[in-house]
Amino acid sequence: MNYVPFEIIAKKRDGKHLTREEISFFLSEYLKNTIADYQMSALLMAIYFRGMSDTELQALVDLMIHSGDTIDLSDIPGIKVDKHSTGGVGDKVSLILAPLVASAGVPVPMISGRGLGHSGGTLDKLEAIPGYRTQLTIDEFKSILKKSAFSMMGQTDRIVPADRRLYALRSATATINSIPLVAGSIMSKKIAEGIQGLVLDVKTGYGAFFPDPNDSVKLGQTLKSIGERSGLKTEAFVTNMQQPLGMAVGNWLEVRESVDCLQDKGPEDVMDVTYLLAKWMLLIGGVATDEKTAERMARENLSSGKAYEFFLRNVELQGGNPRVFDRLEDYSLPKPIEIRSYQTGFVQEANALEIGMASVVAGAGRNRMEDAVDPGAGILMKKKIGDFVKKGEPLALLYTNVNDSSAIEERIRRAFIIGEEKREPLDLIQGRITAEGLEPI
Ligand code: URA
Repeated sequence: MNYVPFEIIAKKRDGKHLTREEISFFLSEYLKNTIADYQMSALLMAIYFRGMSDTELQALVDLMIHSGDTIDLSDIPGIKVDKHSTGGVGDKVSLILAPLVASAGVPVPMISGRGLGHSGGTLDKLEAIPGYRTQLTIDEFKSILKKSAFSMMGQTDRIVPADRRLYALRSATATINSIPLVAGSIMSKKIAEGIQGLVLDVKTGYGAFFPDPNDSVKLGQTLKSIGERSGLKTEAFVTNMQQPLGMAVGNWLEVRESVDCLQDKGPEDVMDVTYLLAKWMLLIGGVATDEKTAERMARENLSSGKAYEFFLRNVELQGGNPRVFDRLEDYSLPKPIEIRSYQTGFVQEANALEIGMASVVAGAGRNRMEDAVDPGAGILMKKKIGDFVKKGEPLALLYTNVNDSSAIEERIRRAFIIGEEKREPLDLIQGRITAEGLEPI
């Protein structure tokens, strides 16, 4: 049946429900380029304001998955488990978690995204490693998974092509933070990759796409119910993104911090989130039967260096040069600029959204999806919430090749609020999502 795109846009704009056939028509014609970017942008904006019913969302997810091929991993032994984060600033957990969980015997096939808005993307971080390839064929993806127990790739023209196109469009049209659009994007990628289990890290706070904790819980419940309906064992947690995770924001800087974590000398907050998610991936993956054992396994595999060995093996298999990690200081970075405090006092806020945006403008992210990122650009935090800083002391270091960086420097300074009283950050791990809401852990 043929539809008129204009009528479908108007129907959603007016708050009515679209049928599966209408969504299917719109998406498939868009992928054939008979529906234009501006028409899809209008529909996305209408969805942003009007939302989607459960039936519409399920149809969207199914259609996105079947916009391309799905991956059959049944010939690879073990319960395949992945993790996804809803996006944040300085969130390099996937780079540590995938080798860690793989090293404990759970295969991790991971399809990730690029930076989106102020939030970094796993693919951009991995591509900061010289030679590392994230555009793989399905055969390459599977062969790497067999050899290193985890593999990392992006959406392609064959795997979830609908997400590849919509992700780019949403990033450029301020339609990222819509629960059905985020849920469709994440779950289509995850279901297409042939996994049996999924652990979700739903961010909340300034640097999250949904800063309000009630929205984060709603998103988590939506993701979990799509996963469960598709037969995936799914767990979801809410973690705080009030300030960046760890000290590094920006692609290479985050790879470097991930290597520190894999060498057991990483920041505590990054490791707290990593161990929480690792524990649940090992439980779902069936290699541990209780939380205590799962956590002990994860900690042992990290401190023994086994997880780091898996990471290095994967880097080599994906075309990267693992020797860069022997001489980290040789990586070419812009000269750091110190962002000094105008005041003496305690850090009250280190706003993740502002720092994420500053890092994008510094070159770590993009304005348009086709733009290249600068792998060396980013921000290294010197102070975080609760730290004492003296007037003139550095709050952060800025790495950028942008000619006039004064506006970026000012933006970073503005992200910090300094006050007289010492303040503690909000709890990093907020709880586990259940059908009833957020369960403390
Ligand atoms: N991560 C995704 O993969 N998609 C989104 O829309 C947001 C975060």
